[in-house]
Amino acid sequence: MSFGHVETIGRRVIVLGGGNTAMDCCRSARRLGGDDVKVAVRSGFDEMKASPWEKEDAQHEGIPILNFLVPIEFLHQDGKLFGMSFDTVRAEYDASGRRNLVSTGEPPVRIECDDVLVAVGQENSFPWIEREIGIDFDRWGMPKVDALTLQSTNERVFFGGDAAFGPKNIIWAVAHAHQAAISIDKFCHGGDLRDRPAPDVTVISQKMGIHEWSYDNDIRNDLRFKVPHLDLTIALKDIKEEVELGYDEQLAFKEAQRCLNCDVQTVFAPKLCIECDACVDICPVDCITFAEDGPEAELRTRLSAPAVNLTQDLYISDGLKTGRVMAKDEDMCLHCGLCAERCPTGAWDMQQYLIDLAQVSPIKTRTTRQGVMA
Ligand code: SF4
Ligand code: SF4
Repeated sequence: MSFGHVETIGRRVIVLGGGNTAMDCCRSARRLGGDDVKVAVRSGFDEMKASPWEKEDAQHEGIPILNFLVPIEFLHQDGKLFGMSFDTVRAEYDASGRRNLVSTGEPPVRIECDDVLVAVGQENSFPWIEREIGIDFDRWGMPKVDALTLQSTNERVFFGGDAAFGPKNIIWAVAHAHQAAISIDKFCHGGDLRDRPAPDVTVISQKMGIHEWSYDNDIRNDLRFKVPHLDLTIALKDIKEEVELGYDEQLAFKEAQRCLNCDVQTVFAPKLCIECDACVDICPVDCITFAEDGPEAELRTRLSAPAVNLTQDLYISDGLKTGRVMAKDEDMCLHCGLCAERCPTGAWDMQQYLIDLAQVSPIKTRTTRQGVMA
């Protein structure tokens, strides 16, 4: 629409879809004359694909988002659209955690409109793959793909990106391509596809002086600073007006200060530890505990702050002089570095890591007198 190929739209508009494109469509519709614009989405609000700030911006412009509505039909009379009807659904999850949208059985919801904008994503469709070539498909028509190797049930066929596990993003698809390339290379050389090359990891201490880090370790509870927006009355009048004004220097600095330094990790050297508990005292989130060892499930309950997120591994050391272990709940660590700053022996260090994931090397070329050879 901002290319100018659409200049007007009906007063009442329904936008179908829950992604960022749907959010763009509804906000553009408001600017092109729609004063009663609604978004109708199959999923619940939290599961919508749109980024939270995109949903927030749409709602800020007075656009309601109606969830759990599955389109049934376009309503029209004498060739003219006058609305849509929707089935109200609820989400039910099967044993594998996959979501199914099930009709609630309520009467259809009718919404009147002059225009409908369809902003739904594209689905995979593989009817063109002959079913007898050995690729198994699940009940949603998606190929059964090994998540590690990206190999299908036909060992010579690999899938990645949207075609393997449904829509996500381009970064994901590119990562799959690298992993599939490694698998294909191994397959062609008769190797074990499950034996994956380890990533190259570089770890560098962030210590500069005795109480000095190469990054700022001030702890802040600030929530995301919102990007200032143009006044709504001006923004809605002209589709060409830039809505997000951007951060000024001060706000940008505050936002940057919220960085959790995820690339900087605590590294513990048990041999240097004198078990003085100074790090335990200073940790703002109580994620360090010195305790007797025990089975993990039981040890989790004895930590200073019980580690309830079972999907997050504990960081456990051995080799302490008293025979105890140091247990750290990585789920809670803020990477503030206060433990390392306080430790009198340097047993804690803050180290920045860089992971270089293994990729299949590009074809090496070498120059000969005759020309370039692969
Ligand atoms: S980095 Fe901060 S939050 Fe993490 S263990 Fe050390 S003191 Fe605690
Ligand atoms: S502050 Fe250092 S020496 Fe003291 S318990 Fe913690 S890691 Fe060990």
